[in-house]
Amino acid sequence: MTLALAIADAIGRLQAVSDSPRQDAEWLLAHLLGYSRAQLFTRLDHPLPQGDLDRFKALITRRAKGEPVAYLTGEKGFWTFSVAVNSAVLVPRPETELLVEWALEWLKPLASPRVADLGTGSGVIALALTLERPDAHVTGVDLSADALAVARDNAAQLRAQVDWVEADFGEWLLMNGPEHDLIVANPPYIAARDPHLDALRFEPRMALTDGHDGLNALRCIIAHAALRLRAGGRLMVEHGYDQASAVQTLMTEAGFTEVTTRHDLGGQPRATAGLRP
Ligand code: GLN
Repeated sequence: MTLALAIADAIGRLQAVSDSPRQDAEWLLAHLLGYSRAQLFTRLDHPLPQGDLDRFKALITRRAKGEPVAYLTGEKGFWTFSVAVNSAVLVPRPETELLVEWALEWLKPLASPRVADLGTGSGVIALALTLERPDAHVTGVDLSADALAVARDNAAQLRAQVDWVEADFGEWLLMNGPEHDLIVANPPYIAARDPHLDALRFEPRMALTDGHDGLNALRCIIAHAALRLRAGGRLMVEHGYDQASAVQTLMTEAGFTEVTTRHDLGGQPRATAGLRP
């Protein structure tokens, strides 16, 4: 069995579950063999030893049951780097880079800004911001100790300096004073009855849904963020494709001004920001 044949066979098995069966199969085989994808492509006609084939098939079986590729390889690329992930954290999504881009734009004129990332998970937003802005003071808050362990390891690996705080972000927002220039969050925003949740069943439920209408975490953050933002500070949140107007209304009602929404690369309204006057 050559690598090419093993991949072709795997693609057939992944067709029903994945939007990108070829990429998944290539990614998993490259990971298993310790190759880059470029190295994999130059060796497609090489024979795959039986032991490797068995291990590859086992990975494909798990993927075919819906487990994300990132959990099978233990890593995921985000922004300019790669982080370790496991089932304690949401797999970072490319659309979340929109939040990073927007945050960096806003931070540009500020010297040594203070930033907080609520529900930081694997830490990718906090890590991207601190790597791009080493002068920033970045805090990553998460309720899950297991998620923070992942975030801490990622920070150590990337030699990034972030203050990790294990707390409910609702409670964290009530602590101390209005000293932040920016609060960012990619909170759980999927409604509990959303059928899409089933496809995400391998990821932590607390990172995906509030158990209600998908707006509870956003309501909590928007209602209390002003307590931790200086006057002129900004709040930026990621949300579902159909939540932009609800989030805008919540921000306006909470006293935020300059409330604006931006679209992700898929053309969906994905992040909304407001200014604390
Ligand atoms: N963007 C994720 C998804 O729909 C959800 C992330 C979240 O709830 N914060 O797959």
